Amino acid sequence: MTRFIYASTSSVYGLSDGPEVTDIGTWALGIGITIVVISSVIFMTVYLGLVRQAPLRASAVISVDKPMRLHEDVQCLNMRRAVFLDRDGVINRVVVRTGRPFPPASVRDVEFLPGAAEAIEALRRADFRIIVVTNQPDVATGLQRRETVEAIHARLRASFPIDDIKVCYHADQDGCPCRKPKPGLLFEAAAQWSLDLSQSVIVGDRWRDIEAGKAAGCKTILVRGGYAERQAERPDAVVASLLEASRVILSNGFTGVEVVT
Ligand SMILES: [Mg+2]
Ligand SMILES: [Zn+2]
Repeated sequence: MTRFIYASTSSVYGLSDGPEVTDIGTWALGIGITIVVISSVIFMTVYLGLVRQAPLRASAVISVDKPMRLHEDVQCLNMRRAVFLDRDGVINRVVVRTGRPFPPASVRDVEFLPGAAEAIEALRRADFRIIVVTNQPDVATGLQRRETVEAIHARLRASFPIDDIKVCYHADQDGCPCRKPKPGLLFEAAAQWSLDLSQSVIVGDRWRDIEAGKAAGCKTILVRGGYAERQAERPDAVVASLLEASRVILSNGFTGVEVVT
């Protein structure tokens, strides 16, 4: 472009003499310089503006403007967090005999606790996987049939937006890795659902739930049951119900990551 303009200018000079030629030459040179300047400005604007500064603007969004929100957005897409819910005494009412809680004997006896549905739906909307983790040792000891437990779980799945239900059917003497306070059920779910356990929470009504959560590196919330048994030690929060637990979880800062609801 530039070379063409100069060539034209030279040829104009070469063809004739006099003031007119000088005028044409000056005019052509002026046009040439103007075109070069405008081209340079356009180039600088387009190249430096779009190519060079765009990544700078993007990194400003990541590191300065709202880093937590960006992290949150990534997590929402992958759903790597979970709320692990103990079943008896958290989702459904327990039968308390001599100060100790017992599970419902049949599907007919299952009574969901007030606010359970509201809590589970709110947590699921906030992109927590909802995973029930429950010890059902009565199956090992012969007091309960596995089919009955499975029928109760079918009703749970039909009633709430639950992603998964992990069950330990063993008793203490089986020495399995899944009976809470062992964290096996949580590890199994974490592997299956690609969960970040450090960003996950367990809600339970007994010391076994809290210990399992701690062993897995989760945050722990105790739903006060007031049972006459060993007490849970130092849960991250103590609440009266699953609904209250959901409010704690959804309050900013509890899991270390901002929650967008
Ligand atoms: Mg329980
Ligand atoms: Zn087990």
